[in-house]
Amino acid sequence: MTIRHHIGDDTLMAYANGTLAENLSVVVATHLAICPKCRRSLTMMEDMAGLLLMEAEPLELARTERELAEVIPSRAEQESLLVASGAANSRSYVDTGVPVPLANRMPSSLDDIPWRTLVPGVSHFPLTWKQAEGEKGALRLLKIAPGKTLPEHSHSGQEVTLILRGSYIDELGRFQAGDFADLDDTTNHQPVADTAEDCICLIATDAPLKFSGFFSRLLQPVFGI
Ligand SMILES: [Zn+2]
Repeated sequence: MTIRHHIGDDTLMAYANGTLAENLSVVVATHLAICPKCRRSLTMMEDMAGLLLMEAEPLELARTERELAEVIPSRAEQESLLVASGAANSRSYVDTGVPVPLANRMPSSLDDIPWRTLVPGVSHFPLTWKQAEGEKGALRLLKIAPGKTLPEHSHSGQEVTLILRGSYIDELGRFQAGDFADLDDTTNHQPVADTAEDCICLIATDAPLKFSGFFSRLLQPVFGI
């Protein structure tokens, strides 16, 4: 797999800081599982953050560590939480055909997803995530049949996409399996699945998409959560 499109610095920094929305973080973590380049960038950011912390006043640091110890569960506590939630028996890459951060959220293998048709040639499957109260956005798998086009749309917030199978082409270039598309509210794009294979993507948005043109009436109720 040759990955050509990667996580943007701002998105990776927000992920490292723990300030990225949970649904966007799932897409980032799944790309990180397969992308050594982005893992190296993340490590560099974490190292830099560590250096900055070391340069802080010792008293400040001591206080920060104490505060962290109070809010972050110990490893043993984390493991007992995992067992309690059933996550310890989580699905694997072998079960689902996707990397673990996503595999844990899949209802089945990628081959057996109960797709819901949006328009002919385009279907989706919503995934659940820990949604804060009042938080908008979505996390979904999207399948585009060969040659089919997603309606042109822009974003009122951020949209991150990881291509799991197949490929699409849009105004920004060609995106193949493993590639990460990191779009903000300045992008207006219209992806077309451009091979003989279905294009399957994992997409998260932190605000409703804004569709332009004919399809808007059709799709807004579905996407515009
Ligand atoms: Zn990457």
